[in-house]
Amino acid sequence: MNIHPAVNDGARTGRPGFSGGMLACRCKDHPVRVRIGAQVAHNHVCGCTRCWKPEGAIFSQIAVVGRDAVEVVENADKLDIVNSDAPIRRHACTGCGVHMYGRIENTDHPFYGLDFVHTELSEEDGWSAPEFAAFVSSIIESGVDPQRMGDVRARLRELGLEPYDMLSPPLMDAIAAHAARKSGKLGTLPV
Ligand SMILES: [Zn+2]
Ligand SMILES: [Zn+2]
Repeated sequence: MNIHPAVNDGARTGRPGFSGGMLACRCKDHPVRVRIGAQVAHNHVCGCTRCWKPEGAIFSQIAVVGRDAVEVVENADKLDIVNSDAPIRRHACTGCGVHMYGRIENTDHPFYGLDFVHTELSEEDGWSAPEFAAFVSSIIESGVDPQRMGDVRARLRELGLEPYDMLSPPLMDAIAAHAARKSGKLGTLPV
């Protein structure tokens, strides 16, 4: 089962002190290069239909990093936004189709300030390893037989990637806390 090449044989663990590296698209000529100046967080495999994924993989692999740590250093002219109306604007290479980074421009978005990147586009070793699986049920929309979902979730657990049908609890909590902060309700209900 091809969950994703980065995790199929077990994910490599991140290296303490690792502080980033270079992402390159898959064009042989004039590849787009993006420098990531920090370690990534919340690395995970994602089953949504919008993230870029390598050929044949059921999931993408995606992580977040502060937008200030993301810099396009070569061939920026090849980048184009996949869908300007989506909350995450995915900047993709028009040559090979790889998404180089996803950026949120809406300052009210709970994840504003974070960019989404695919660390598999880097040759460096040491990036934080995938920790969970997000939007698992959405792989059905990509064409996976619903009857296979039990097997897929079992395989994810075997790989140490707890399957969630949205995001992980810490990320869902961050979204809810953002809403509660806006409404003034944050922390007002004793438990
Ligand atoms: Zn390319
Ligand atoms: Zn996704």
